[in-house]
Amino acid sequence: MTVQTVMVIGAGQMGSGIVQVHAMAGVQVFMHDLKPEFVERGMNTITKNLDRQVEKGRMTEEERNDILARITPSTDIQNAAKVDLVIEAAVENMGIKQNIFKELDQIAPEHTILATNTSSLPITEIAAVTNRPEKVIGMHFMNPVPVMKLVEIIRGLATSDEVYGTIEDLSRQLGKIPVEVNDFPGFVSNRILMPMINEAIYTVFEGVATPEAVDEVMKLGMNHPMGPLTLADFIGLDTCLYIMETLHEGFGDDKYRPCPLLRKYVKAGWLGKKSGRGFYVYN
Ligand code: NAD
Repeated sequence: MTVQTVMVIGAGQMGSGIVQVHAMAGVQVFMHDLKPEFVERGMNTITKNLDRQVEKGRMTEEERNDILARITPSTDIQNAAKVDLVIEAAVENMGIKQNIFKELDQIAPEHTILATNTSSLPITEIAAVTNRPEKVIGMHFMNPVPVMKLVEIIRGLATSDEVYGTIEDLSRQLGKIPVEVNDFPGFVSNRILMPMINEAIYTVFEGVATPEAVDEVMKLGMNHPMGPLTLADFIGLDTCLYIMETLHEGFGDDKYRPCPLLRKYVKAGWLGKKSGRGFYVYN
């Protein structure tokens, strides 16, 4: 199947980026969120990104306008009836995702693939609430979506080869590089990345070093382009906590216990860049 129309659920950091790359690749896309102001915020982010491309001479005004014209704002979930693929990028919470998938399963046509951008939750468990587990798949984009090349494609237990092939082809059409992984908590990316971030938070919690020092060590000593605490702020500390909880629960191993300082920051509403404060303060 060739995907011609897509609906993205959630117009936040990830959702808006996913909408942008589809519209840039010539795909018609609904950008859906709970309230019009959330969709508008996503639209503003995309418009700003494209304006920057025009200013740098990488895109013409006309190309920018054509891309924006391919995006339809949505607060009506019934729009799922009009698409070949839905990509869910709402919050990292199993209950919320399962409710969304139950609803989508009722509304979307039989051929429609239901994908999730979850960072860590089991695809098989999300698929189990639908009547089409063979058409449910993980399509894990990296942040910021327009820049990062990887799409981690996660097969649930029942995902069909045909559906996998369609998502692999689409990822290439978006200019991304797909990598196939199986369904285990955190997949590959966050099983390795998140424990490193959590350990960096422990080093601050235990007074080993300041956030600035931890980030400098990892940048200068390990050649990481950005330190783990800057990256955590960028990802969102709430998302980091959800992922650590998923790893902890999924493997039943205390080596994945979330650092108490991470819990404290999230409870305080210090969610990183998106809330203006995390390990660092943002304007
Ligand atoms: P975010 O908080 O920026 O955005 C989430 C959006 O989903 C919000 O606009 C919210 O209003 C909307 N939403 C919540 N419930 C909804 C519902 N029932 N229907 C429609 N919209 C709903 O979060 P984010 O960082 O964009 O993360 C979204 C998903 O992507 C999560 O599953 C996360 O784990 C995953 N992810 C995040 C990153 C990252 O670096 N932040 C990377 C890869 C994957």
